[in-house]
Amino acid sequence: MEWCVSMPKIELHAHLNGSIRDSTLLKLARELGEKGAINFPDVEHVILKNDRSFKEVFKLFDLIHILTTDHKIVTRMTKEVIEDFADDNVVYLELRTTPKNNDSKGMSKRSYMEAVLEGIRSVNSVEVDLCHKLKEDTSAHSHTVDDICNNKTRRKKIYVGLLLSIDRRETTEAAIETVKLALEMRDLGVVGIDLSGNPVIGEWLTFLPALEFAKEQGLPITLHCGEVPNPDEIRAMLNFLPRRIGHACCFEDDEWNLLKRLKIPVEICLTSNIITETIASVDVHHFADLYKSNHPLILCTDDCGVFSTSISAEYALASSTFGIGKREMFEMNDRAIDFIFACDRVKQELKTMFASGLSELL
Ligand code: 5GP
Repeated sequence: MEWCVSMPKIELHAHLNGSIRDSTLLKLARELGEKGAINFPDVEHVILKNDRSFKEVFKLFDLIHILTTDHKIVTRMTKEVIEDFADDNVVYLELRTTPKNNDSKGMSKRSYMEAVLEGIRSVNSVEVDLCHKLKEDTSAHSHTVDDICNNKTRRKKIYVGLLLSIDRRETTEAAIETVKLALEMRDLGVVGIDLSGNPVIGEWLTFLPALEFAKEQGLPITLHCGEVPNPDEIRAMLNFLPRRIGHACCFEDDEWNLLKRLKIPVEICLTSNIITETIASVDVHHFADLYKSNHPLILCTDDCGVFSTSISAEYALASSTFGIGKREMFEMNDRAIDFIFACDRVKQELKTMFASGLSELL
């Protein structure tokens, strides 16, 4: 479906390390193999495996982190990931990543994030607008949907906002450190906080002080919620009133009712949920019910490298499974502008762009 590629898209749930290109990951693994640090054939097998259980996915993340936790590699990976999303006509990207300490590489959470920012600055195939509040008015250079869809543009443009992830393995203190870093980097493109990591690890109460602190400081929060059956945690998360949640796979009736009553937008990751078997098959995915109920939602990739997908492939899958056409997808994106974490300037520019595009596109 060509229109799934050409349509301007909003991506709100993409993990940096999970979005790494397979080719880059294999190259890094080969290099470490040559140095004797890892056994390349074993690692190659893990990287190229297509279907992974939930447990195997988190093992793969540990492997990816061994390969990528180095400033230069973080910079390169960030650059490539943004270029790949822009190539797929993502016009607004919220990219999330867990700031990492790694003494052996002289890496702190801050220096990790500086490497990410360096990667964003080094993107040259597309114009990047980091979502600062204070940026001067750029409306004179704003792009129309026609520029994007018909490739007429002088140079493509992508807005990028960063979310700092708290990993569920972390302590309260480490989580607070991440929130403080996000606050310090607010003027550098950080737009919010995410809670992610293996959902069978860690307790909600461990992260709550950091998340409450973030909320008090006005940082928008999204939570990975309901990836495993855990009704107490799901209810606590929903009652916390995050600005969005990701996944929402293992909800029971009570939780669906609460979610719908609170109208918390959901980031939907179809392929990720199918591959990790948190949902049995795409035709029974909760996307259909939420979409029919007009619940706020948006299609996302989660980890396009790890799950070998792309945002346009997710649109094609949703379109062929649920019969949703181009116009409805366009409108889904338009509505999602209301729940992005970037400032009003960016929202306004996106609204203008989408408004200009409706008649041209359809
Ligand atoms: P990073 O934060 O290192 O850039 O991206 C990879 C990390 O994102 C993983 O180690 C994990 O903490 C988190 N992550 C990626 N995909 C998922 C997912 O589907 N569910 C959860 N809960 N966490 C994820």
